[in-house]
Amino acid sequence: MSEIAETLKLMREQIDALCDRCPNLDKTVRSLIAVSKQQPEEKIQAALDAGQRVFGENKVQEAYAHWQGKRKMYPDLELHLIGPLQTNKAKLACLLFDVIHTLDREKLAKALVKLRDQGIALPRLFIQVNTGEEEQKAGILPQDLPLFLEFCQKDCGFKIEGLMCIPPQEEPAGLHFTFLKTLADRYGLDELSMGMSEDYDKAIVCGATHIRVGSALFGGRV
Ligand SMILES: *Cc1c(COP(=O)(O)O)cnc(C)c1O
Repeated sequence: MSEIAETLKLMREQIDALCDRCPNLDKTVRSLIAVSKQQPEEKIQAALDAGQRVFGENKVQEAYAHWQGKRKMYPDLELHLIGPLQTNKAKLACLLFDVIHTLDREKLAKALVKLRDQGIALPRLFIQVNTGEEEQKAGILPQDLPLFLEFCQKDCGFKIEGLMCIPPQEEPAGLHFTFLKTLADRYGLDELSMGMSEDYDKAIVCGATHIRVGSALFGGRV
């Protein structure tokens, strides 16, 4: 068994054990998203060989170059965009990705509506929330979420599946995960994309349905 296959197996067991330990959660982890950005091809291939089909990328063009050709070979591939999306790359993103985690502003929502009007199928959508209200970070501010959500649902006709966050480095991640869960419950959203290599165990206990794991699975990025 390859090292990646072994790590994946252990990680899946750990995730299942954590989910079993929180029977009060109505949702459990549905997706272990293997974050393949800046990882060498042979490691990604090892994950594919081990049966992993859900991958996350943060850059549209690089992801397109890497994954587009693999669709034919792996028809059950599921690709998640977890990085910020510029409107001029929205079309390419819609053509490649199954899920966008980073919808966070009206301009982008409007660009997606335009694409849909042109007959392009939209990916499943998560809204990114800037729970730490960090200036340099993408995501809608928590206080702006209600109006933005209404805009997405009513004006744009999107089905928003859930919320995503990246907690500030210097703060306890659990606080942000709990906060995101509270927001999702308040607005009736089912899915929560939260937790990375350092803190996915905490995120699961807080109700994550999608965890995004890169370095803990593949090792450091090149
Ligand atoms: C890179 C990245 C990850 C994975 O980070 P690791 O710490 O390597 O697990 C998760 N989410 C987002 C948004 C990322 O950009």
